[in-house]
Amino acid sequence: MTAASPLSATAYRSVNPADPDDVVLRFSAPGAFAAVDTVERARAAQAGWLLAGAAARSAALGAVAAAVEAAAAELAALAVREVGKPLTEARAEVARTAAIWRYYAQTPYDPVGAVHETAAGAGLLLSRRRPHGVAGLITPWNFPFAIPSWKAAPALAVGNAVVLKPAPQATACAQRLAEIVQQALPAGVFTVLPGDATEGNALVSASDVVSFTGSTTVGQAVVRTATSRGIPVQAEMGGLNAAVVLPDADVERAAAHIAAAIAGYAGQKCTATSRVIAVGAALDPLRDALAEALRAVPVGDPADVATVCGPLIDARARDQVVDAVHGLRVLAGGTVPDGAGWYAAPTLVEGAPPGHRLLCEEVFGPVAALLPAESLEHAVRISNSVPHGLVTSLHTADLDAALGGLDRLDTGMVRINAPSTGVDFHLPFGGTKASSHGAREQGRVALEFYAATRTYTLAP
Ligand code: NAD
Repeated sequence: MTAASPLSATAYRSVNPADPDDVVLRFSAPGAFAAVDTVERARAAQAGWLLAGAAARSAALGAVAAAVEAAAAELAALAVREVGKPLTEARAEVARTAAIWRYYAQTPYDPVGAVHETAAGAGLLLSRRRPHGVAGLITPWNFPFAIPSWKAAPALAVGNAVVLKPAPQATACAQRLAEIVQQALPAGVFTVLPGDATEGNALVSASDVVSFTGSTTVGQAVVRTATSRGIPVQAEMGGLNAAVVLPDADVERAAAHIAAAIAGYAGQKCTATSRVIAVGAALDPLRDALAEALRAVPVGDPADVATVCGPLIDARARDQVVDAVHGLRVLAGGTVPDGAGWYAAPTLVEGAPPGHRLLCEEVFGPVAALLPAESLEHAVRISNSVPHGLVTSLHTADLDAALGGLDRLDTGMVRINAPSTGVDFHLPFGGTKASSHGAREQGRVALEFYAATRTYTLAP
């Protein structure tokens, strides 16, 4: 059984990963034709939304922030139940979601262009950013409120209408978020399109701009379709993130940060650490400290405020963790706890040979491989050797080494003496290589993706 199993071609149910007998939602996917109709209705609503002006858009986005805050406890409980997010992290995601809407609520007042002198002196040249029309947003299940919000809020702020196609496993969360957003916005400006690949593909074929977050395989297909239509597309995809530990690092602190990045939310974050590279003499103390830290991670009911590692999203995801470590030296975990729910113990392994699946593919669970390196140079080469390039954490007391790492690690984000998993919503977010395609998300820079710059000439 999976967390969102199709009951037929169009009927789905989303279930609680901690208690698979608990059905959270039954829903129907409307199919490709209805998906295109949804985009057409959104397109009809978009012109009015743009003409409503900066004050109306700012007030509406601010109202969403306030409504998310008012419903915070209920939203967090829904994320716990539908996608197995531990309560502490679910609360933090909801708080971040409100902050995202509040942040973008200020942006309709930002400048949307520039005035230039003409070469001849008389007249004026203007550049002005205008929205594309309908933004088609396709999102994964693991951040069911924050990811739809960090796409929708900037898209709406600059005057687009939005059609959101959430992951089927997070449909109840998306529908609840939509109720809140729709109360603050004119009818038709924000719509949820339930479903999976059929509806997602139709959305890419009909929207004016597409923003995708999810796996690399699906993301690359979305990019190909959107590019063939000549529309702007961005895709945030998977990670295979390394933590590099130098011999001068505070080993206990590094182990605590890395354990959190491996096991938090059962490793189901694109920014989770899945390779731990220990340089020289760091290897022995780190092996012991990290194994101990992982064994101490509280695993269990995501509704318990103390839980750090809850269930995986479905049985297949849980089985992949166990399969991936088969035949390797297990330093911590490697087991499946008894009882209902799709749990796997936080796991650290050693001895994975080059080309091993753990070193080439995103497993998306609470599992990491420990690897030795001779020097920082060597560690950087190992870290950079994968197709992905989302984030690296580097643990050291040496400022020169930290600065050297910033330049040479080929990932979109580098975090010094911090877990790989933190995200600041007001900064650009994204990776290199197979982790990202196109413009960065989050922060003010996200606004640029949702609008095209036009140039106007006013002759004298
Ligand atoms: P997924 O790729 O299976 O699904 C993502 C979305 O794409 C879902 O809404 C799904 O219904 C839709 N989809 C599936 N097939 C499609 C198609 N052919 N055309 C259009 N849409 C289609 O990913 P998931 O399992 O929901 O999420 C986990 C993945 O997301 C991991 O790989 C993780 O690393 C990645 N992720 C990346 C980031 C990031 O910012 N880089 C953030 C969170 C998650």
